[in-house]
Amino acid sequence: MPPAPDHPMNIFFDVDLTIISEDGTLRPRVPEVFRRLVEDGHKVYLWSGNGIRWPVVDRFGLREWVSDCFFKPLYDHRQALARQGFPVHPDFCVDDYPEVVTEFGGVHVLPYGEPDPGDQEMVRVYETVRAWAG
Ligand SMILES: [Mg+2]
Repeated sequence: MPPAPDHPMNIFFDVDLTIISEDGTLRPRVPEVFRRLVEDGHKVYLWSGNGIRWPVVDRFGLREWVSDCFFKPLYDHRQALARQGFPVHPDFCVDDYPEVVTEFGGVHVLPYGEPDPGDQEMVRVYETVRAWAG
């Protein structure tokens, strides 16, 4: 195990067009990046405006690395989380939609619409987390 990062983070991944394509295939490197983030001392969460996505977690065998799944508020994110008594603070967000990333920080990824085995966005996500976490 590598040493714990200076700043362990709650890392929130969006689902549709962030970790899965339009037709539901998994983005390249997702399992590897989830595993490495957890091994580095971070917590990985999924959230989605389309519901609580354990079925996606299970379809791709990601339970070992995903701490929890949540419904993602669609607007006024901070106020919505406060109102709901949301149990975890998103420290770093990964989303194909810029608003959440602007609000909480993180990486705005290119939308993963069509399956593309050459896609490298998850590598960029991992490297950005490394840079932030120290
Ligand atoms: Mg999305």
